[in-house]
Amino acid sequence: MTDSRRGLILINTGPGKGKTTAALGTGLRAVGNGMRVLMLQFLKGSWHYGELDATEAFNGNFVIRQMGRGFVKVGGAETDPEDIRMVEAAWAEAREAIYSGEWDMVILDEINYAIGYKMLNPAVVVEALRGKPEMVHVILTGRNAHPLLVELADTVTEMREVKHAYQKGILAQRGIEF
Ligand code: ATP
Ligand code: MG
Repeated sequence: MTDSRRGLILINTGPGKGKTTAALGTGLRAVGNGMRVLMLQFLKGSWHYGELDATEAFNGNFVIRQMGRGFVKVGGAETDPEDIRMVEAAWAEAREAIYSGEWDMVILDEINYAIGYKMLNPAVVVEALRGKPEMVHVILTGRNAHPLLVELADTVTEMREVKHAYQKGILAQRGIEF
């Protein structure tokens, strides 16, 4: 173990619940350490999540931006070009944020889905992360993290589903799912 400070690449993936919320928890921890945190939410946009309001309390030190519109229709030619444009814009902003020097932690929420849906090239993401400023922490969330990203990351956590309320027909609950 060394005590030298460095920026890490983390991935929260797997089918169980907790990928985004664990990233938010890490963001909260970082903000408490005086760091500046940006979460860019790929694909999301149609739901209003509690964290969007909660982070208002952090005076610009914990910022969440929704970069999509939700309910993406995918599958080859089915994919709406507008959704692809939104993913490309989200990625451009993500890359810029990572390199800007403005943020200590950049969370790319649901980016693994955008990659999995072939809306974003994983090699492009890998290249940008390889060359990132040393001290910036980057967290990527979403199921089915691409193998190239898993290989690159320092810490990878796979959420395993033991059970989920949804299987009993319980719909998304305020404060738990949104
Ligand atoms: P959370 O945002 O609660 O941390 P997540 O990021 O791990 O969840 P996503 O794949 O982003 O999960 O899915 C988002 C939504 O789907 C959340 O409302 C979450 O509760 C729900 N969800 C997550 N895992 C499951 C599951 N195994 N079965 C049913 N619904 C799920
Ligand atoms: Mg999520």
